[in-house]
Amino acid sequence: MTPTAIAPEMRTHAENLDQLAAVAVHVGLGLKPGQELVMTASLDCIDLARRITEQAYRAGARLVTTLYADDESTLMRYRFAPDASFDYAAGWLYEGMAAAFKSGSARLAIAGANPALLANQDPGKVGRANRAVSKAYRPALELITRHEINWTIVAGATPAWAEAMFPNDAPGVALAQLWDAIFSTTRIHTADPVAAWKKHDADLHQRAAFLNDKRYAALDYRGPGTDFRLGLADGHEWLGGGTTAANGNYCIPNMPTEEVFTTPHKDRADGTVTASKPLSHQGTMIEGIRVRFEGGRVVEVYATRGQGVLEKLIETDDGAGRLGEVALVPQSSPIARSGLVFLNTLFDENAASHIALGQSYSSCLIDGDKLSPQELAARGANESLIHVDWMIGSGQLDIDGITASGAAEPLMRKGEWAS
Ligand code: ZN
Ligand code: ZN
Repeated sequence: MTPTAIAPEMRTHAENLDQLAAVAVHVGLGLKPGQELVMTASLDCIDLARRITEQAYRAGARLVTTLYADDESTLMRYRFAPDASFDYAAGWLYEGMAAAFKSGSARLAIAGANPALLANQDPGKVGRANRAVSKAYRPALELITRHEINWTIVAGATPAWAEAMFPNDAPGVALAQLWDAIFSTTRIHTADPVAAWKKHDADLHQRAAFLNDKRYAALDYRGPGTDFRLGLADGHEWLGGGTTAANGNYCIPNMPTEEVFTTPHKDRADGTVTASKPLSHQGTMIEGIRVRFEGGRVVEVYATRGQGVLEKLIETDDGAGRLGEVALVPQSSPIARSGLVFLNTLFDENAASHIALGQSYSSCLIDGDKLSPQELAARGANESLIHVDWMIGSGQLDIDGITASGAAEPLMRKGEWAS
């Protein structure tokens, strides 16, 4: 049973949660009867996790396994664990997740992290712990980025996240405001959220098809603090909205999603680009980012806050200082219109056009999943342990598409599609 049709303004909080759970299972995940589900969630999101579990079993899930995380326990590691702890990750757990995915399990993550959880911890330890997890999680993550399985990420409000977003409000008010923002931006406040998502998904596919017809060689960005030329990978393919995973199940990997995105060429980024929003990376805030590229590689880094973390991030490996994703998002997206900074990439990356340092998606290349690592690199696809999105779009950003013959065509003007 999916939640019954109730006018959006008449719904209680519990009914909105059920709508979100239903959209997550039926549209985001596209869970099939008999399929297993591995879910991760904060303990603070247990109410939503239980409702998703209910919807999953009602949809015929064979088994739902949820791994809960607890912020206080994470902080205890930084306070009390021996130094060697920070080069270690639970490899056995990530191997188990990879094994579950290989045997056909779907994957759902509830995002709701405290964006400032690790702000006062030693950046060296944070960096080492992140690197250890990235390395251990890689085999499982590859199955996800290659879309071997159906997967999705949805958001659940948590007190710490709400407090970071609305620091001047009482805790209960802040939490209610965050839930309201999540429901509005994920189309839950509509008469029929499932239908609203299907229409939105079709629109994103149409925009990606338009860009694939154009076959631009590069994009040219101009805006405050930004004068940047980014080449696209040879044989790149724009994607947006849902996708059919290799296991045959159609899923929409991020809820919300407003972006169309593709793979840039790892050796063809030149000029200066300034971030338009702060970046919350693994519990640390990085603000006022300005980066200069030459021949695809970062050659200068500046941030008003968190510069050390950003520098460490870029030193992770060879590919961490090159780009693996370029995405376009109009300013009219519901998240941009909300005017809120969510301090969470799932939302903030859909409020603005962005680029990502690190690993590229082979699915953003024509026949990319059939290419060897050498062939992918030859097309310009980047390889790295990291994939970190940062926002560069704003209402002042103009973007031109550069054709193969070098002609410039207006693609976005003041943050909106030019045609
Ligand atoms: Zn993106
Ligand atoms: Zn990304």
